[in-house]
Amino acid sequence: MSIASTTWISGPVLRARPDGPFVLREAVTVGPERLLGEVIRIARDQIVVQVYEDTSGLRPGAEVAGSGHLLSIRLGPGLLGHIFDGLLRPMSAEGGAYVTPGMREEAPAIFDFRPRAAVGDSLAPGAVLGDVQGWTSVPGGTSREGRDVGDQAGNAEGAWTQHCLVPPDSPGGEVVFMAQAGPHREDEPVCRLRDAKGRLQDLAMSHHWPVRLPRPALKRLPSDEPMVTGQRVIDCLFPIPRGGTAAVPGGFGTGKTVLLETVAKWCDADVIVYVGCGERGNELAGLLSELLELEDPRSGRPLLERTVVIANTSNMPVSAREASIYTAITVAEYFRDQGLNVTLMADSTSRWAEALREVSGRLGELPGEAGYPAYLSSRLADFYERAARVRTLAGTIGAVTVLGAVSPPSGDFSEPVTNHTRRYIGCLWALDVHRAQARFYPAIHPLQSYSTVAKNLARWWHGQNCTRWEELRRRFLTLLEEEARLERMARIIGRDAMPEHQRLILLCAQLVNQAFLRQSAFSPIDRYATPARQAVMMRLIGRFIEGAEGLMQAGIPPEAIAAEPIFRALMRMGEEIPEGDWERFSDLDRDLTATLRRLRRPAPEHAGVGAT
Ligand code: ADP
Ligand code: MG
Repeated sequence: MSIASTTWISGPVLRARPDGPFVLREAVTVGPERLLGEVIRIARDQIVVQVYEDTSGLRPGAEVAGSGHLLSIRLGPGLLGHIFDGLLRPMSAEGGAYVTPGMREEAPAIFDFRPRAAVGDSLAPGAVLGDVQGWTSVPGGTSREGRDVGDQAGNAEGAWTQHCLVPPDSPGGEVVFMAQAGPHREDEPVCRLRDAKGRLQDLAMSHHWPVRLPRPALKRLPSDEPMVTGQRVIDCLFPIPRGGTAAVPGGFGTGKTVLLETVAKWCDADVIVYVGCGERGNELAGLLSELLELEDPRSGRPLLERTVVIANTSNMPVSAREASIYTAITVAEYFRDQGLNVTLMADSTSRWAEALREVSGRLGELPGEAGYPAYLSSRLADFYERAARVRTLAGTIGAVTVLGAVSPPSGDFSEPVTNHTRRYIGCLWALDVHRAQARFYPAIHPLQSYSTVAKNLARWWHGQNCTRWEELRRRFLTLLEEEARLERMARIIGRDAMPEHQRLILLCAQLVNQAFLRQSAFSPIDRYATPARQAVMMRLIGRFIEGAEGLMQAGIPPEAIAAEPIFRALMRMGEEIPEGDWERFSDLDRDLTATLRRLRRPAPEHAGVGAT
């Protein structure tokens, strides 16, 4: 391996004079502590290295040692349920502990291996060579109770299986050796392949993959299935498909972290990869203990067991933040390649961009907008474009859905990170400071947010017994637009002076806002809503709107219906009617019909309006 001698150090970057060849993105170690770094520029007689640890002890002359491979991480069965730093080095779950400088990766653990191929079989790159039962390592080689993630492979309940894959960059070949079922170290060869040229390759349960290289798949698939978040404003108004991307811009305290965490807890992904990037460290510790306490509705086990947390909080070296985003998406792709649906949350991509800016500044690069380097945009693209729903090399279907928080300074959405992010995402969930101040959560602004893919998901909602999803979605959005227009007038002339049909719009919009879009992350009943519950609430509100319009045409003012108990009951249904209590929803429906009929009595020819 080549060696270089450090000539200049500035914070996390250094220059060094090489005495042999280095390649771009090569992993290196620096100095006697063997700090981990990466070659980020190469000139004829100089390399530039980004160091992922505190460099304060380094002096010019420190030796930079090449590794001969790109900056890579080890992907294997030991990831789930653990917390790592930005380079996938293990941290203790308490969140306060730091990785030892220079430490490479977690010591290989022992897992219970089951072969899925036999001698003589032929295995292609990305194929499944074996399974690991159970999510956790097997201390001392004794097996531990497993569990189910997703419903892959029709496993019996309680046995969650991870697949061991032939690395995508392997040539594949014929199996000439396969280990016996039972406990093995994850880095120990369990399978040997002979390729077409007769070369042998040993494969283990784990394999390494360079973080900046997207893992290949057979093909990208269109997405007509939502990633259900359980948040009504998202799933019904601004839905995200599996394999899609969303950005969550919002000023300080508008609820980015709470929203991402709520989605992490309740969304219907098989695996969650949560990267805490430059945000407060205690928040991440809080999330971890919550995930440990919360029960996965599918398995009854702690939610943490199907989560990988990557932490680069504000008290850790800035440069490691830059890598953490790529580490996280590589981990997500690895689970995708096992045929799973993965959701990745990054909180916050702005802190990541700031790390990029800091390194760029140290290198004396020409700054662009707001001091960010000119390549900010292409780096954002590199990240978001790795989200996809794919046919994997193994022939299964998997997806990586990406949600990124953006923290624009002073909440100004025209700043570079928000602006460039918009170019690469399909959904924008814009958090509004006024809603947040009014404690209206989630503070997603219905007029500033969008989903470019909503119409592709209508068919899925039809399958959920919500055949009017598209129409009601339009209806709600139109109402909210009209409300914004009318509210200014209402402030000037007063609500009472407005014509009846405008008062009705304000009333219906109030119902949509309060009963449907508002949903507290801390309400035990309403923090999550299944698609079935969302659909029933959507239908009820739709019926109310149509009924109230019918009444108005029959000469009954909107205030008359707002004064009825049914209006109050609808306003509170999210907080009051729990998941699965369909009877109470039918009671509401019956009460609504009865109220409309009673109010309409003087004009019986309108009977039947509002039937869905
Ligand atoms: P940000 O990450 O944007 O700075 P946070 O996510 O930390 O903001 O939210 C700030 C506070 O707002 C939270 O501590 C919580 O009290 C409140 N909050 C935010 N989102 C919600 C929500 N969905 N439901 C209930 N409360 C919320
Ligand atoms: Mg936050």
